[in-house]
Amino acid sequence: MLPAFFDSMLDLIIRTSTDLPPDVRAAMKSAMGAEPAGTQSAQALAIIAENIDMAADGEGAICQDTGMPTFEIKTPAGANQGWMAQQIREAIAEATRRGKLRPNSVDSITGKNSGNNLGPGTPVIHFEQWDRDDIEVRLLLKGGGCENCNAQYSLPADLAHLGRADRDLEGVRKCILHAVWQAQGKGCSPGAVGVCIGGDRANGYHHAKLQLFRSLDDVNPDARLAELEAKILGTINDLGVGTMGFGGHATLIGCKIGALNRLPACYFVSVAYDCWAFRRLGVVLGAADGAIKQWLFRDPSHPAIPMIDQAGFTRTGREVELRTPIDEATIRSLKVGDVVLISGMIYTGRDSVHSHLMKNDPPVPLNGQIIYHCGPVVLKDGDGWKMMAAGPTTSAREEPYQGEVIKRFGVRAVIGKGGMGAKTLAALKESGAVYLSAIGGAAQFYARCVENVDGVSLMEFGVPEAMWHLRVRDFPCIVTMDSHGNSLHKEVEAASAVKLAGLSEMD
Ligand code: SF4
Repeated sequence: MLPAFFDSMLDLIIRTSTDLPPDVRAAMKSAMGAEPAGTQSAQALAIIAENIDMAADGEGAICQDTGMPTFEIKTPAGANQGWMAQQIREAIAEATRRGKLRPNSVDSITGKNSGNNLGPGTPVIHFEQWDRDDIEVRLLLKGGGCENCNAQYSLPADLAHLGRADRDLEGVRKCILHAVWQAQGKGCSPGAVGVCIGGDRANGYHHAKLQLFRSLDDVNPDARLAELEAKILGTINDLGVGTMGFGGHATLIGCKIGALNRLPACYFVSVAYDCWAFRRLGVVLGAADGAIKQWLFRDPSHPAIPMIDQAGFTRTGREVELRTPIDEATIRSLKVGDVVLISGMIYTGRDSVHSHLMKNDPPVPLNGQIIYHCGPVVLKDGDGWKMMAAGPTTSAREEPYQGEVIKRFGVRAVIGKGGMGAKTLAALKESGAVYLSAIGGAAQFYARCVENVDGVSLMEFGVPEAMWHLRVRDFPCIVTMDSHGNSLHKEVEAASAVKLAGLSEMD
């Protein structure tokens, strides 16, 4: 067998989870240059940049959602693919045990987390045979927030604000614009899209994801698709969605388009949306021993250039310091755009906790407290716990529950990403509460704001879904929905819809 194969896979997984490739770093650097200093998007990008550097320096997960591990592997004839797949599964379990991956594999019927990232369909492993002697393994770690922003269109179709999309490249252009607009900040923009024109529904999505294995700075060999990619990138940042949907100029850092033949009756456009935490690397292995001969998408002889030149996120002096528990008057004094620094206790709660709270009392009193939409990576550390990664998760999933939870238990603030809808906005106004946006993906940055993990409740839901009791210090967030009926998310969506309509016709 290949004695070094397991170690090579473990190295690939850990490196992919913790160190963004140079093409993504370069794209994010130019996104940073596009946002004027002092704007909410610029502040968000400063936190993201600091987070990227922290993750690489400390070998910590860039984002707490370490995604669905997706391997694309090419092997020579005669390779034992079944053995390789088993070694990869063992490497995934080991990386999870070391806290480099979050336990992310959940039984879809029972809701039980397998705890080691293994289970039916997890990880995803695709093999292909090629004529070369060596082995190539490419890995994509794509999280759930951006996966939920994928979109598939069946043309012809009528698209909101864009009108009719026909079965031609102009129709494809409209689909891509629509998918990116629809994602707003929920997929942790600025993002990148892989697109497939044609295929059937299943292959269309797969081929769209394969486009994400292209380097962001490559040029499509098909001149027609290269032109379309350039056209999209040349206009889409005018939409004004901006970083995390805060408004601004950095909405998309990459657009890669492929095509498959289709049935005459079908014309699908599949869009795979990836977030700024675009974790994708690859290796070429020697066929004799499975050792790494070459890295793909990175050159280890050129150390990564730091993302931040100076201080990263810095205080302006205008930040509002909040200490939990918080009273109503303090909350009512906050307005959209304020930057707050939270100290004291906050409690994580995502899908399982919210569903639990609809039928049960909370395990700790939540009056005056803050719920944090977060599924962290936490490791057992003696009798206590060690926080490994703690960024926000997409809040929109809690929209059916959040208003009632706020009103029933006196919650004063909810932290998350991507914003929430009309029901939550009404509850914030009625109860005197705010929605605070943390910066999606900034898992290392926020983990450093956690002074201690004081405890955990509802551990039966698994690590990401349990309610963690976190003692935090100077945890920065932006008020994006206040108690006076204002929502930055609603404003940006409406303004970007007008700009989207302006892009409906192009020469
Ligand atoms: S950066 Fe955002 S969308 Fe991407 S994996 Fe992390 S939480 Fe999910």
